[in-house]
This record gives sequence, C-alpha cells and structure tokens, in this order.
Amino acid sequence: MNYVILDLEWDGSYYPKINGFMNQILQIGAVKLNAGFDIIDTFDVIIKSSFSKRLSKRFTELTGITKEKMLSGMSLNDAFKAYNYWVGDDAVTMTWSNSDIYTVLENEKKLLSGTKLKLEKYLDLQKYIQGEMKLLGIECNSQISLLNAAIALGVDVDEAALHDAKADSLVCATLLKRFYNRERFNALVTDASAPDFFERYTFKPYYITDISNGDIEKTQLDFFCPDCKKQLKIKKNWKSRFGGFNAVLQCVDCGKEYNANVKFKKMFDTVKVRRRLSEKKPVQKDINNE
Ligand SMILES: [Zn+2]
Repeated sequence: MNYVILDLEWDGSYYPKINGFMNQILQIGAVKLNAGFDIIDTFDVIIKSSFSKRLSKRFTELTGITKEKMLSGMSLNDAFKAYNYWVGDDAVTMTWSNSDIYTVLENEKKLLSGTKLKLEKYLDLQKYIQGEMKLLGIECNSQISLLNAAIALGVDVDEAALHDAKADSLVCATLLKRFYNRERFNALVTDASAPDFFERYTFKPYYITDISNGDIEKTQLDFFCPDCKKQLKIKKNWKSRFGGFNAVLQCVDCGKEYNANVKFKKMFDTVKVRRRLSEKKPVQKDINNE
C-alpha cells in the first residue's frame, strides 16, 4: 500500500456561468510515500483556469504561480486524469484539513463533466496530527495550520517554501514519519469510494433547537439527584437557548433544585449529546429573628 499526500492550491475568482465566485484548483501537488513514509515519487502540475485570465495578488504571492505560468498550464480535466494515472491503485490519500476535498467537489461539480479525482481511501492529516498533539499535551486550536503544527512539534520547516504545493507535502511527510501510530492512523482512514462519502463530507453538523425533533432521544433529558439518586422532577419546561435546552429540575426527596442543560448536535449519522447539571443556589434571604 502507498500513501499519497495531496496538496491543492486554488484561487477564488468570478465565474460568469454561475454568477458568483468559486475556488478554482490551479495546482495539484502530491508526493507518494512507501510504507516507511519515504518519498518515492512526486507529482506537480499547474492548471490553466477554465474561465479566468486573472489571478489574485494573494495567490501569486502565496504560490509563486504567475499569470503566465497559469495560462500555459494543463486543463483541469487533463490534470485530474494525469493525477489519477499517477496515483495508481491502493493508495491512502491524505490532505491537510478536508477543505481540499470540498474544493475538489466544487470543481468536479461546476467545471467538469464526469471526470473525478481518484480517491479510494482518505485521511484528514490535520485531524490526525491534532489528535497526536493532544496526546502529547500540546495545545492546539481546531484548525491549526501546517506551519504552526510543524513548529509546535519541533519539525524544521523552511517557511519561505511553504505554500508551494510540493513543499507543503514534504512537511506533511516529515510529520507523518515522526508521529505515525498505526492504530490511531487506521482508525481515521475512511473509505472514499463509499457512496455516502461526499455527503458525509459536505454535511454540516448543527444543534437541534426543537425539543420535539425525532433525533432527540428523550431519556437524555432525564437527570438524577447526585445525593439521593432519585430521578429529578421537572419544574419548568425545557426551553431552547443558545443551541441547547435548559430546565429547572427538583429532587422530590431532598428538595434541591438544579439547572440542567442539554445540547444535541446532529452529526451525519449520529447525535452528539452534552449534558450538564448544576445545583441551583437558593436565593439568600435576610433572616429576621424578631
Ligand atoms: Zn435529592
């Protein structure tokens, strides 16, 4: 089995046909690694825009790809075909964050008629590395850049060379070589040839705000008194607030009141539940003994 690190560079430009902006893939860079994560092959093509003769200044600054280079590039269709031939069979394809996958989808949908980028097994390397960082006790935000991840993990990077598609892939390969754990890695590999793969990737999780929503498992609204272990009785009905539900509950045994908060996050095929219970502090009253 081979491993492929794919790194796309794209630029946002106005596409008259859809009367709006879209991110066009203008470079495909990739490296192929063997089982020891040594680089055995590289792929690098520049793509000619399907509809624009211009590039944003930012894109050129970031990638070093000039308008002239872009205009003498391959068509997107040919680039995808060349990549598919190069990638071969039985590869685990990785990208740094899944935004590349969204862009591939958008490009396939809006600019191509049937040609698809070959993805058999897929892993989001950002997600994997973030998991490893957490295990090492290194704090990181949820969308850490490749550069910041490399710095945090003590991997030398040539900052100037980053954002060249190939240079990014080399940094990814180095990270992988150093922080590979077979079990945790395999657990994140998804079957990109599965029919629901793309729906899964385009699905945006959301918080359920309607208490009668059928995805809510009602027993998740049951709470028990931490002291008496008895089920708490609801005092006021559940109210939807800030993506969650709040209610005041009371123990019939000890009389203590609690604030309960439950959040239901709808994922593609599950519902994530977060439950909180805190004792409601009684209002302080001045006691007058007279
Ligand atoms: Zn109680």
